[in-house]
Amino acid sequence: MSMTNPTFEESFLANMAEIGRNMAAEMEATEPQPEPAVDVELKPCPFCESNPRMESWYSPPRGYWFSCDGCSVEADSAIDKAGAAEAWNHRPIEDAQTKRIAELEARISHLEERLERANWERHKEMRRS
Ligand SMILES: [Zn+2]
Repeated sequence: MSMTNPTFEESFLANMAEIGRNMAAEMEATEPQPEPAVDVELKPCPFCESNPRMESWYSPPRGYWFSCDGCSVEADSAIDKAGAAEAWNHRPIEDAQTKRIAELEARISHLEERLERANWERHKEMRRS
């Protein structure tokens, strides 16, 4: 390189190097940052019982959602991973059925106890007579 004014070629190369450094810095700055992992246990797919896979896009609006690895069904998207996990795990019908099953099981065990007590009373009466 000359000590006097740079030649056109020298300035061109210097400018290109500068542009390259700026582009590298910009790419590093806009690289997606790792987010905290979802600490919620994800339910299996309601249709095929496969595991969900997290999907995302990085250009605005940023968002996440879960899709099934087996049948590709997708849950609603959300702005963060926790919201996406909540959307994936949202199972109103399943939850209502689980609640109903628990109620019916409690009722059955109550009736079984009553039946057992009635049988015991009958057994005692039969021995008395
Ligand atoms: Zn599935």
